[in-house]
Amino acid sequence: QAPLDVASIRVQFPIFQSQTDGRPLVYLDSAASTQQPESVMGAVGDYHRLHHANIHRGVYQLSQTATRMYEEARAAVAGFLNTAESAECLFTRGATESINLVAFSWGNACLGPGDEILISTLEHHSNIVPWQMVARARGAAVKVIPITDDGEIDLDAYRRLLSPRTRLVAVNQVSNALGTINPVGDMIREAHAVGALVLVDGAQWVAHGATDVRALDADFYVFSGHKIYGPTGIGVLYGKRALLDAMPPYQGGGDMIERVTFAETSYAPLPNKFEAGTPHISGAVGLAAAIDWVRRIGLDRIGAHEQMLLRHATERLEAIPGLEIKGRARHKSGVVSWVMLDPPIATLDVGTRLDLRGICIRTGHHCCQPLMDRLGVSSTARASVGVYNSLEDIDALADALGEMVDEERGKTRSKASGGGES
Ligand code: PMP
Repeated sequence: QAPLDVASIRVQFPIFQSQTDGRPLVYLDSAASTQQPESVMGAVGDYHRLHHANIHRGVYQLSQTATRMYEEARAAVAGFLNTAESAECLFTRGATESINLVAFSWGNACLGPGDEILISTLEHHSNIVPWQMVARARGAAVKVIPITDDGEIDLDAYRRLLSPRTRLVAVNQVSNALGTINPVGDMIREAHAVGALVLVDGAQWVAHGATDVRALDADFYVFSGHKIYGPTGIGVLYGKRALLDAMPPYQGGGDMIERVTFAETSYAPLPNKFEAGTPHISGAVGLAAAIDWVRRIGLDRIGAHEQMLLRHATERLEAIPGLEIKGRARHKSGVVSWVMLDPPIATLDVGTRLDLRGICIRTGHHCCQPLMDRLGVSSTARASVGVYNSLEDIDALADALGEMVDEERGKTRSKASGGGES
């Protein structure tokens, strides 16, 4: 397969035509949100300019066109995830809402005292807090799968935690904080062997490799549009039909009903049962355009390009004195997390100083406070790559960090020698 021509990709992103204080933008925060190519903005713009109307209820052609575009977007998602049917793909506001939908609909209906939900130490708060909330309400327990010091899920511990009490395993396919790629296929097989369901949080995976929910045999799979070059405010919940059919609605309102009387209401079939109210129509259209864009480039090529950037970033950052990389898993996506120990530089300070050079990284707990506790830090600095990043971006980051260390060492030296200039 041909390597990516980054220059021809970057020109498709208007944001890279902009400058930060006269410097080109070095964007290394795609794990938080990816930038959008012109084709996605164009699809959203065309929808607004030419096709917008409320969907599903209009007899007029404009509304029917908007409905068709929305449902075609669902079909695009279904093709992308290789689901058995489009109706198993629900549009939500994002991965967070998708997980909450399962926690509150499935969890409230199916969990009881003594039941257990397994999550891993690597989870994002959005795959922790909803389970804590529903477990508390239902008298169930949340158990945590530990990780190794390298940031990998401890699979022996996972096997020991699985039991007939386990009702659901909720785990990410890729850790947003460390980049660890988890063996979710194996984990699903083991969970099914004890009769548990599995929800896979694919927020950090879908833009970096092909996804096949049927090959994985995932029961639920979630992701967000804005981490795969699409708009914010749109996300997906995939669920197996039998499970979604048996689950009660998550929200009530228009579009999710079959018949309403004051005495009783019956619900619409999938997918409408779980899409109460007017959805984010243009978001769905934009997400479909993003999926199309990514598939044209090829997820294998994107993944290979990002692995090349990861190798270079790991090598360059490892060579910086006093910098410690957190998360040394064997299989990682394009995420590097680190702390600066000697000289100690606070991660917030690192992020702010890089910003002065037009370099965007993320600092903080990455919505993974329990993981930070496990690693013994309160925060890390994190660089994460996307399809538009180049080796030059990585070099800009590493050079800036190297200079930061030199500056700090210079300060320490001048203090030690009496301080200041003579
Ligand atoms: N899970 C993971 C692994 C994530 O990285 C994120 C976003 N940082 C989420 C879930 C939540 O996604 P969103 O904020 O789009 O709902």
